[in-house]
Amino acid sequence: MTDPNAYGTSSGHRGLDLAEPLIFELDAPGRCGVDLPEAPDVPNRLGGLERLAPIGLPGLSEPQVVRHFVRLSRNNFAIDAGLYPLGSCTMKHNPRLNEKLARLPGFADLHPLQPAATVQGALEVIDTLSDWLLKLTGMSAIAMSPAAGAHGELCGLMCIRAALQARGDPREVVLVPTSAHGTNPATAAICGYRVEEIPANEGGRVDLQALREKLGPHVAAIMLTNPNTCGLFENEIVEIAAAVHGAGAFFYCDGANFNAIMGKVRPGDLGIDCMHLNLHKTFSTPHGGGGPGSGPVVLADALAPFAPLPKVVRGAGGLELVEQKSTALGTAGSFGRLKGFHGQMGMFVRALAFILSHGADGLRQASEDAVLNANYILAGLRDLFSLSFAGPCMHEVLFDDHFLKDTGVSTLDFAKAMIDEGFHPMTMYFPLVVSGAMLIEPTESESKDSLDQFIASMRHLGNRAVAGDHEFFAGAPYLAPYRRLDETQAARKPVLRWRPEVQEAAE
Ligand SMILES: *Cc1c(COP(=O)(O)O)cnc(C)c1O
Repeated sequence: MTDPNAYGTSSGHRGLDLAEPLIFELDAPGRCGVDLPEAPDVPNRLGGLERLAPIGLPGLSEPQVVRHFVRLSRNNFAIDAGLYPLGSCTMKHNPRLNEKLARLPGFADLHPLQPAATVQGALEVIDTLSDWLLKLTGMSAIAMSPAAGAHGELCGLMCIRAALQARGDPREVVLVPTSAHGTNPATAAICGYRVEEIPANEGGRVDLQALREKLGPHVAAIMLTNPNTCGLFENEIVEIAAAVHGAGAFFYCDGANFNAIMGKVRPGDLGIDCMHLNLHKTFSTPHGGGGPGSGPVVLADALAPFAPLPKVVRGAGGLELVEQKSTALGTAGSFGRLKGFHGQMGMFVRALAFILSHGADGLRQASEDAVLNANYILAGLRDLFSLSFAGPCMHEVLFDDHFLKDTGVSTLDFAKAMIDEGFHPMTMYFPLVVSGAMLIEPTESESKDSLDQFIASMRHLGNRAVAGDHEFFAGAPYLAPYRRLDETQAARKPVLRWRPEVQEAAE
């Protein structure tokens, strides 16, 4: 391809992909997907409640509706379509076995208000999954209800707040490293804490000395990700835990990156008090588009009494759900309910299917392969791209934009060009501790062939950028139905609802 613009761009059509309007814009008056009798032979039984005017549904034929949705589905990029190297998100393959089991009517058709006696199998799934998660993390209690990682963080900090209140020692500050995921400081702030940052050292890890200086009787907790968001293991984590505990504070670990260490390290052995797991990352349950996720939280002894309800316990008559605080059942200190019901049942089934089909050795192997794959990419790109911190890395590799210096190509331009190469861009501009971050996480799902293909595309683009072809990058993507969108307007003034008036006014 000499001129990528040789492809028509005015219509948005590309190869077999047509630019797809909204279904309301496909509407034609009088058109309908079904044949209805002229004058319905229904006597007036509605007592004046009939509609007086049409309700504004678009008129389309059945094939038009089918094509509309199939075309839209082709505009999605998914892990089922190709490598999805979005760092920190663990976009791994969701085995179809998980899906098959989650669709069994005994799971799929449950109602959360059914009596416990009729859902013993579902409670058994929750209990068995809890057991695995406790064994893998080396912790003593678990809260299954959080609906995502960020919700798990909220759960964890609410447990910490309850524990501090119970000992009559409310504190004001939560310490968060500069490389943390944005949800960490947001969670701390929502729980009413003041957030203070801990700087990173030149190795991309928490600066232990700076942490020690920040600790004091006002600090409630530290929120630390391990392996951290630079893809590095915090190798002073035991010292960090000792320093935090020495100051009477709690150690919250963001466990979103557990895929790197599953079966290798137990967070409980490192002195962690509380950690969320993203079932939708580590344990392959599907994610994207905002849900559904699942973020169980594992807790050490000191926090266990404050865990939310409901909770599954094994009683004389089988498994039971404890819904109310009770001294006898050791749940009197609970901070209460976090969510309407017991958690994301469909995700529990999928995660347990993933765990049981791998077994303990298989899970360890998955982590090892995830780390190996990331290091394979590191090795394949390090001479051309700028590696932020000396390797080896854990399950994701972090490059920055130093190799693009003076080329006129930005990390964003580079990411857009990856779309034309058939890859979802990596995570960009996160973590914030390096300039123009490119965080690449291949997961264990990728074969050597697909990693080689990815590396070849990245090298092709890298060479083109370093050679100074910035105009090519400024125009990318060329092969997407929609090209550069106005990201500022999309964030500041999102148009979330179609209205005919708005459309006309905008023209
Ligand atoms: C994904 C992620 C979260 C948030 O998890 P959600 O399930 O998206 O709410 C928090 N921290 C890190 C490091 C993550 O990667």
